[in-house]
Amino acid sequence: MYELLNHTEKSVRQALQDFLVENILPCSCELCQADIMALALNRLPAHYYVSQRGEIMTRWESQSTTDKARIMADVVRAVQQVGASPSHQLK
Ligand SMILES: [Zn+2]
Repeated sequence: MYELLNHTEKSVRQALQDFLVENILPCSCELCQADIMALALNRLPAHYYVSQRGEIMTRWESQSTTDKARIMADVVRAVQQVGASPSHQLK
């Protein structure tokens, strides 16, 4: 079976990991990280591809610095939003 994957999702996941290397979230639980990804992904254009061929295609698709900067900016904005109103109570 072929699977549809969103390349933007990979990029957002990577951007969040990069962000977490140097920053601490108010809460870094799985739910908050998923909320951050959902918020960022809703603002960014999706880049779907079909998995098997797509895994190779993503290597051709060189992401511009602007795209990376935009993705990071949206991740940071989502981090701030989730930090301000997390979907669960912070201890
Ligand atoms: Zn949390």
